Amino acid sequence: MGNLHLGGTALKPLVILGATGSIGRQAVEVAHRVGAPIAALAANSASDSLLEMGEAHPEAIVCVADPQGSEEHFRSVFGPRVRFGTQSVTEVAALGNTTVLNGIVGAAGLEASLSALNAGNRLALANKESLVAGGSLLTRALADGGGELIPVDSEHSAIWQCIHGENVSHVKRLILTASGGPFRGRSRSEMVTVSVAEALAHPTWEMGPRITTDSATLMNKAFEVIEAHHLFSVGYDDIDVVIHPQSVVHSFVEFDDGVVKAELGFPDMRKPIQAAITYPERVSVPHQPFDLVGTDLTFEAPDLETFPCLALGYEAGRLGGTATAVLNAADEIAVAAFLAERIAFLRIADVVAEVLGAHDVYEPDSVAGVGAADAWARSHAEAAVTRFSS
Ligand code: MG
Repeated sequence: MGNLHLGGTALKPLVILGATGSIGRQAVEVAHRVGAPIAALAANSASDSLLEMGEAHPEAIVCVADPQGSEEHFRSVFGPRVRFGTQSVTEVAALGNTTVLNGIVGAAGLEASLSALNAGNRLALANKESLVAGGSLLTRALADGGGELIPVDSEHSAIWQCIHGENVSHVKRLILTASGGPFRGRSRSEMVTVSVAEALAHPTWEMGPRITTDSATLMNKAFEVIEAHHLFSVGYDDIDVVIHPQSVVHSFVEFDDGVVKAELGFPDMRKPIQAAITYPERVSVPHQPFDLVGTDLTFEAPDLETFPCLALGYEAGRLGGTATAVLNAADEIAVAAFLAERIAFLRIADVVAEVLGAHDVYEPDSVAGVGAADAWARSHAEAAVTRFSS
């Protein structure tokens, strides 16, 4: 498959990490639409969907992080182009002159992000936990490796597009929009008995179960505040969140002279994925015509008492160091426990608050340093879950 030439710039081959997840599948679709070759497809498990994807892309390396006994079968299908283990994912992220789309879910994505940046690749980052858990490590790898870091999160893609061509020192404030999730407008007492199915029914965005639950608690927005802090070097006092249920305005940037820019569109993750892959060009693709006639766009302040996870995010961000890695790890455990119906919805914030409150923050200087805080947080969160579930 040849590279598509855009104004003389060839699209780099794509390495898609988390290929069978929601972002990964949409990235494969975008790659086909814009004609980007796929160099590698990596997924956590040896699923049928990875088999299908691998067969549909005979030139791609196929990585299975955790094959669980499927090695022989995968080898019989793919021969020498299949690789196994988490190390194989880190290795393909370092394939020369590629765009690495990191759609891995959770803190497991950090090493692959670092590997991509250290190799000088373009990192199209959908794994927000990379920045939440290891923001300072990523910033350093970006500076040292000479790669590019392009956000694939609708809000951050919006901000990134708004500050193209601007002097970033004139950015005064970032305003992240949030849909408010399925429980917007509810009181705490109205959320005591919410079910997993209710939490997973997101009103505007279609995403995986963890991020959808994080959207319902507003923890996703907390992560995005931290993400924005690292991506755009803006202090926490200058990052605001506004609830915007229609998810049409993807975020705002206010400049020193009072000018405010925003990026708008109907919710569709393929747009930020495509922007990250084709930058600095834009590729014409079929899309829903933009028409706001008859659509009311509304904005309201977030309710931090009902949704304490957002406040916990600001608290962890201001603490800095390992606090944000702890925030993420405790949330991963708490959300998994909620999805397994071990704890109630409101307990997610309780677990995270307890673990964050017990943590002694330090500045991590390596992945191992982040990993130690992450492991500490997971075991404390497990203990809290066990207590709350009994
Ligand atoms: Mg987002």
